[in-house]
Amino acid sequence: MKEPDASANPPVDGAELIRFDNVTKRFGSNTVLDRLDFSVASGKHVTLIGPSGSGKTTILRLLMTLLKPDEGTITVAGEQLFPAPEKQVREVRKKIGMVFQQFNLFPNMTVLRNITEAPVTVLGLSKDEAEARARELLDMVGLADKCDARPTQLSGGQQQRVAIARALAMRPQVLLLDEVTSALDPELVAGVLDVLRDIARSTDITMLCVTHEMNFARDISDQVLMFDSGRVIESGSPEKIFNDPENDRTREFLSAVL
Ligand code: ADP
Repeated sequence: MKEPDASANPPVDGAELIRFDNVTKRFGSNTVLDRLDFSVASGKHVTLIGPSGSGKTTILRLLMTLLKPDEGTITVAGEQLFPAPEKQVREVRKKIGMVFQQFNLFPNMTVLRNITEAPVTVLGLSKDEAEARARELLDMVGLADKCDARPTQLSGGQQQRVAIARALAMRPQVLLLDEVTSALDPELVAGVLDVLRDIARSTDITMLCVTHEMNFARDISDQVLMFDSGRVIESGSPEKIFNDPENDRTREFLSAVL
């Protein structure tokens, strides 16, 4: 299969893929991210935890260029995403895929078309190439028999697995996951998390994940970043953060959610 441009030169495993330098984001007088510095190495799975409102989703939205920072720089695979000319932003943006809380599938398209649309229109894949890849991905998320279904005919968990396949169809270097199980009925959560565990194990994609599923975070993360009021107040391996946190706020947060 032809490799789309976005992953033509994947960074060496372990090289820095995402970097935030001194990033500040305000909404009016509310400083949501406060001179934030952090980086994510290629191929790693990093989970952002912390109280509601601490700025985790804002980080993902900045990477998706749905928001712009007020100050600072954001770099992806060595190229600046902000500040940068529009053309560069579009190119860098292709390296990033995101799965949202609310699936956001196109309701008027079949499952297959939901997955092939962007690879055809944005990456320029032929319809056949895009469909072959979409079928592989649907197989991977356990929905090979749902190609022709409409999103409304699927359960929330199935829709979210389609959304994961759709994000991966763009062959991003990094997958952003924003509380992807929060909108699901409890019995559907495990199926989606199993698919993500499988992707974390079997691919070299970098993952940046906001989740309240602490067991999942413990399983897949190489590194956990604990946020409070727009800053990273503690970071480390899941063993360190979940078993032996140093910061009082981390301890308080974990005792409330675990
Ligand atoms: P988290 O993901 O940690 O719950 P968010 O990044 O969603 O936190 O939000 C951080 C803060 O930014 C919250 O106080 C939220 O109300 C505020 N916020 C987020 N998006 C907007 C927006 N579009 N307009 C105004 N305030 C926003």
